[in-house]
Amino acid sequence: PRLTRADLDALPNYVPGRSPADLARELGLPEAIKLASNEVPYGPLPGVVEAVAEAVAGVHRYPDMGVVALRQALADRYDVDPDRIATGCGSVALAEHLVRTTCLPGDELVYSWRSFEAYPIIAATSGATSVQVPNEAAHGHDLSAMATAVTDRTRMILVCNPNNPTGTAIRRAELDRFLDAVPDDVLVVIDEAYREFVTDPEVPDGLTYADRPNVAVLRTLSKAWGLAGLRIGFLVAQPLVAAAVRKVVTPFSTSMAAQAGALAALAQADEVQRRCALVVAERDRVTEALRKLVPDVPTSQANFVWLPLGDRSLAFGRACESRGVIVRPFSGDGVRVTVGTPEENDAFLAAAESALR
Ligand code: PMP
Repeated sequence: PRLTRADLDALPNYVPGRSPADLARELGLPEAIKLASNEVPYGPLPGVVEAVAEAVAGVHRYPDMGVVALRQALADRYDVDPDRIATGCGSVALAEHLVRTTCLPGDELVYSWRSFEAYPIIAATSGATSVQVPNEAAHGHDLSAMATAVTDRTRMILVCNPNNPTGTAIRRAELDRFLDAVPDDVLVVIDEAYREFVTDPEVPDGLTYADRPNVAVLRTLSKAWGLAGLRIGFLVAQPLVAAAVRKVVTPFSTSMAAQAGALAALAQADEVQRRCALVVAERDRVTEALRKLVPDVPTSQANFVWLPLGDRSLAFGRACESRGVIVRPFSGDGVRVTVGTPEENDAFLAAAESALR
């Protein structure tokens, strides 16, 4: 007998990509270079490992379910009331919780496509109907088409800024116009997983919109803050929205280690800024080098670059792997490459050159 939902068969897996250890073994190399998941390459921030080790001495107890100290620290840093903050097991879990707090089966979730690959999975598994609005030719969100896609059934819109995987970012005037056009009973979620890498002053900080009643901002500590392995993200929304999310969250899913690690990381904001500046300088160097091989590489405001290689994407991914570099190809569309250390980026650029010349 069939025990699971038939509609899940057609759903893609969330693919974290090839394991670096497996690839290194296959190629007989000491290690492979992983530029596939948009992590920052500099190791945990000072003090994080110690704070986590200290916290896990108490793991026979549950963590603080209210996440009080961390929500207060986030509230202080981002200058919002802690009532407006919810934390979760990565911002991907919070995106799922937001869909569950807004959408009943059949309700519509609007987002740009291509964007973060978790969005269609989240929609499908929570019973919402995905409404995918194609990216514009320059690979960014088509916000006017997204506003037009809103119907009576639309409950939530995801705006990914900067967009994963294309790196494109929406500017303030455009976002202002969009938010003014969206009905006020539709929640607009601005997913800012890569906010810390934004350098264009015209790209607005989503938190400057968080006083609008129908805006929620999603942030993660997985990228700039270096805590991908601890699984911790947060959102800022109106108190009623944040409270609803705290209701649907899996109990205790912000672990003791995540709470302690995040508190320690937040004390290292200067170091985070320094590391982000290194990533940004490398991002711009890699983009320039790639444009000699692929002219239409979009300008990235994140810690990765997008190669719109179309049908050549999978072959390009395989060619990089054969040289020990793991990137993220999206079949028929393009390849996303995370910015690593200068040495890692040089190895990738050499692989790209040999694959494309
Ligand atoms: N949003 C976007 C746009 C992302 O790219 C990612 C990670 N790939 C996430 C959310 C989720 O990150 P996490 O669950 O690690 O916080």
